Amino acid sequence: MLIAGSVSLSALLTSPPTHGDDHSAPEAVAASTAPTTNAHETGASVTPLDALKFLQEGNSRFAKGESARPHQSVARREAVAKKQTPFAVIVTCSDSRLTPEFIFDQGIGDLFVVRVAGNTIDKVAMGSIQYAIQHLGSRLIVVMGHERCGAVDAALAGGKLPGDLPSVVAPIKPACDHAHQAGKEGLEFAIRQNVRNMVRKLSHQDPIIKKLVTKEEVQVIGMRYDLESGVASMVIFQ
Ligand SMILES: [Zn+2]
Repeated sequence: MLIAGSVSLSALLTSPPTHGDDHSAPEAVAASTAPTTNAHETGASVTPLDALKFLQEGNSRFAKGESARPHQSVARREAVAKKQTPFAVIVTCSDSRLTPEFIFDQGIGDLFVVRVAGNTIDKVAMGSIQYAIQHLGSRLIVVMGHERCGAVDAALAGGKLPGDLPSVVAPIKPACDHAHQAGKEGLEFAIRQNVRNMVRKLSHQDPIIKKLVTKEEVQVIGMRYDLESGVASMVIFQ
């Protein structure tokens, strides 16, 4: 279990994210002066809990309709053109309503995003995540499912699907089976179980990520995004 920085885990998870954080402030400076620098610019210097705090604060701004839209200036673009150090990896669904940079109120070079319908992790996705962790210095991996996910709904419904859609729903099936066994037939349970399964796949089954999690250098968490409220809430903290 990770404990890093001065912010306690329980405080971070139970307190509402604060608004008006200082990480958006450098962007305002950058807009009028030199290329921006801030904590996000060096992913490796950001602790996993710092990264979670940035995401929670950004999501709080987004949900309130008060997005700061940091790191979208020409200066920022130029500053990260030759080197990226995204502070977090976001594994989420391809659904058009949950663009990570929008819902976490981040900008260019902040997030390394892996998206596929149903937010599952195959070998290509796993390799992409390993790349971000090992070579770009990302310290936090977030698997984020969402309300009314069509891919999970299709996996729950079963039946024959056309084309390559069976490849999309197959990795979601274990979550649906778990839901059936638990006597919880609803879509919402399967969505959350699918997130839990993917978090465990990362933190327990992949040897590269497991080793970094054990050393408390990387944290893997699961979240669930609410389409109406815009809030990304915690499902599992491994
Ligand atoms: Zn979805």
